Amino acid sequence: MRTDFDRELEERLVRYAAIDTQSDENTGTKPSTAIQLDLQRLLLAELTGIGASEVRLTDYGAVLATIPATAEGAPVIGLLAHVDTAPQFHAAGVKPVVHRNYNGGAISFADAPGLTLSPDISPYLGEKSGHDIITASGTTLLGADDKAGVAVIMSAARHLLANPSIPHGPIRIAFTPDEEIGGGVDARLPADLAADFAYTFDGAAVGEIEYESFSADMATVTVTGVSIHPGTAKGKLVNALHLGSKIVQTLPHVTMTPETTEERAGFLHVYEMKGSAAKVVLKIILRDFELDGLAAKGELLRQVCATVQATEPRAEITCEIRAQYRNMRYWLEKDMTPVDLARAACRDLGIEPVSIPIRGGTDGSRLTELGVPCPNLFTGMQEIHGPLEWISVQDMAVATQLCLKLVERAARP
Ligand SMILES: [Zn+2]
Repeated sequence: MRTDFDRELEERLVRYAAIDTQSDENTGTKPSTAIQLDLQRLLLAELTGIGASEVRLTDYGAVLATIPATAEGAPVIGLLAHVDTAPQFHAAGVKPVVHRNYNGGAISFADAPGLTLSPDISPYLGEKSGHDIITASGTTLLGADDKAGVAVIMSAARHLLANPSIPHGPIRIAFTPDEEIGGGVDARLPADLAADFAYTFDGAAVGEIEYESFSADMATVTVTGVSIHPGTAKGKLVNALHLGSKIVQTLPHVTMTPETTEERAGFLHVYEMKGSAAKVVLKIILRDFELDGLAAKGELLRQVCATVQATEPRAEITCEIRAQYRNMRYWLEKDMTPVDLARAACRDLGIEPVSIPIRGGTDGSRLTELGVPCPNLFTGMQEIHGPLEWISVQDMAVATQLCLKLVERAARP
């Protein structure tokens, strides 16, 4: 199914994806990387160009804009996408490639001869024969996560501003930095957004309307040993590396890890171990859909640390756990209006919506917790955060139509 949006979406995604916007959790700045502002400045100019109002870049690095209402009495709806790409894979020098009228077979990559993408690897691709598929060139991620969301919102905004006869309430747009490192929602964003409810366009397969995410904590375990010259160390040296390894070894391996769990099961994931014989720092993320499950994982980690501490009183082992984000379901299930509206708009397009719990978080998780209910909607993105990342232009067009249906439906008396 071809639409008038296809060429615009393709052109936008290709252009946005070529701009490196990788975030970095180790800089401590806001936004975490200045390169994200390269795309933000472009979006500022484009939003102004299409006639949006109140276009501005906040000092926390978000771009905000308004599409003024064309109808009275409708709720203020926020539309969000994040501009940063994941730190987990190469993201500089993205060369987007359009595979027009995909033939259903294997896709190869100019810059990585050994790499192929096929329906065997990515079953959803098997449903996309005849679509225009966009990939990177083999050595980088594509960044459809979440520049597809940016392209969808920009195309819908351009369409609404060019067609003021379409009835809709006030629409607030926010393009956020640093979502991939959990920093997309600044404490000031809910007030600046000033929406009754909002949607992130940061989901995958067509039909996905998600209102449940993980609840997430992050732990930092610090092991301080006793450092001394190894030549005179007998009876004195306490090696932090041995103790740090012991903690990792004592945590569950064959259960409760990301690689051994799926669906509604949570996990503990040791994702970084840095240091020396003198001192080691472990970083661990804790995930569960329920708060008691999350607390139990924190307790397990503390017990493991205490057990290893007991074997070596001369070391000092500390375990700090801080909250990251919470399952948005806790709030959304009390008022399903935003979810029901998205589902109805989806059915208007002849697509039966599906709601799968997200094994991760979105800007919407945090935004919901801060008082702006914010489910997550599909864009079409697949195989994200790696070299096989791909998206169908026609899926993005369906997401754009969903966006338009949704704001139109919300304005019906
Ligand atoms: Zn994303």
